[in-house]
Amino acid sequence: MQKRSTLFFICLFGLNLAWGQSNIDKALKSITAEELKNHVYFLADDAMNGRDTPSAELDSAAAYISQQFMAGGLTAPQGSYYQHFNVLRSKLGKGNGISLINDGTVTAYKIKKDFVPLAVSKNGIIEETAVIFAGYGITAPEYNYDDYAEIDVQNKIVLIFTGEPQAKDTSSIFSGAQNSDYARLRVKVENALEHGAIGLLLISNPHRNFRRPPNSWPSLMRNAPVNAVPLKRETIKGGSLAAMQLGKKLGKALLEGSGQTLVELFDNIDSDLQPRSFELSGIKVTMETRLDIEKNVTQNVWAYLEGSDPLLKDELVIIGGHYDHVGVQKGEIYNGADDNASGTSGVIELAEAFAMLDQPPKRSMLFMTYSGEEKGLFGSYHYTDNPLMPMENTAAMFCLDMISRNDTNAVVIIGDKCSETLTANCDNANEIIGMDMTKTSDWFLQSDHYPFYKKGVPVLFFNCGDTEDLHQPTDDCEKIIPEKMERITRLIFLTALKTANSVDRPDYIKFR
Ligand SMILES: [Zn+2]
Repeated sequence: MQKRSTLFFICLFGLNLAWGQSNIDKALKSITAEELKNHVYFLADDAMNGRDTPSAELDSAAAYISQQFMAGGLTAPQGSYYQHFNVLRSKLGKGNGISLINDGTVTAYKIKKDFVPLAVSKNGIIEETAVIFAGYGITAPEYNYDDYAEIDVQNKIVLIFTGEPQAKDTSSIFSGAQNSDYARLRVKVENALEHGAIGLLLISNPHRNFRRPPNSWPSLMRNAPVNAVPLKRETIKGGSLAAMQLGKKLGKALLEGSGQTLVELFDNIDSDLQPRSFELSGIKVTMETRLDIEKNVTQNVWAYLEGSDPLLKDELVIIGGHYDHVGVQKGEIYNGADDNASGTSGVIELAEAFAMLDQPPKRSMLFMTYSGEEKGLFGSYHYTDNPLMPMENTAAMFCLDMISRNDTNAVVIIGDKCSETLTANCDNANEIIGMDMTKTSDWFLQSDHYPFYKKGVPVLFFNCGDTEDLHQPTDDCEKIIPEKMERITRLIFLTALKTANSVDRPDYIKFR
């Protein structure tokens, strides 16, 4: 496709010529292949050691990005270009155990075979305490569903299922066959804490064929490297509780005196969404959890540009992408030039371009680079849990992740079904830029726009497609195509500008 004239672009975007052409053109053209390339070469240099979360090198990358934001004249939100959060690395400690006390008989169970402590667990001992079966441990007033409705779990242990009721039912009130937020362990833990529980025992769908609980502790695995301990984002505010996941034998033993089975309880809840919660009679539990927890601080890097419209400036358009990668593995540096020094560079250039406009867009804009994406979208989840403005004021989010490889003129647009407006804005912008667009829903769950989408924000994700170097030590600077980054970044500039200036908010379609 040919590039169209700037005049055509002004008509398309319905912008006022008075503040128009040269001003926007100047900002657009400030996004250059040369500058994008320079950012990538800094961020993906061997000296950055693959920007692992957390690491000193990731902090150096954060300092670089914040300096760029500052030099571009952008504002530091809440007084800092950093939005800090904690990441935790837990190792299994010594002394984890659980026993059932039934009529004075104490039966101890085995770690790995019968139970594993959960990484969210706090350390401590709970002695001879009653256990309440509490369904899925979900309180969802909007669905008129509450597993805690008729029970008192104060200072007791709750036994709950993983997931949510009617999990495979496409017409389920809990987001159909997809998981809603209520299926998340973190949400269950917070809900149990709110109801005063001190211990949590988790068990999988009893129809599933399992004997042991799922195990993610390297020290319980054969031949697992010692440092293969998963990193978690610290999310539970105000403490936690003792938490374990159980195997089938222990689940069965807990229910023994009740005259009910886990399968019956599971099926009954699923059939009518009525809670089946009750105290397990004749049984007490003693449990001890011991984890060795190492806490580190990391940060998203953010910058703000206040909108120019007195009303619309209370809404945000967010442009973001992750700046972390996977570090050094087996002595090899994973530089992550495409993934995602490229997208990070795009965010930097976009911030600079928007700040250069004579008048900022009507809506306010937030430029963000996230840490911990490779560990599980930590930074973007941290943001959506702790937003600068309430999430309902976020009008759109554009994500840049891997924008520098494959055909120079090709771009992959992921999530075009999420908003007709955003897709139309992108199509309009592409009348000027003229890239070959592929639209898809593949990889929709795999980058930082997803937590925004889950909160009801229309999103669009810009990407260059798969490469053989993805998550390989060969994802290096020499392989990026700066001209391609320039085109994609300019495409995003025009798309985001139109979105930030349109009086009507973009639509949101929950398509998956
Ligand atoms: Zn990435």
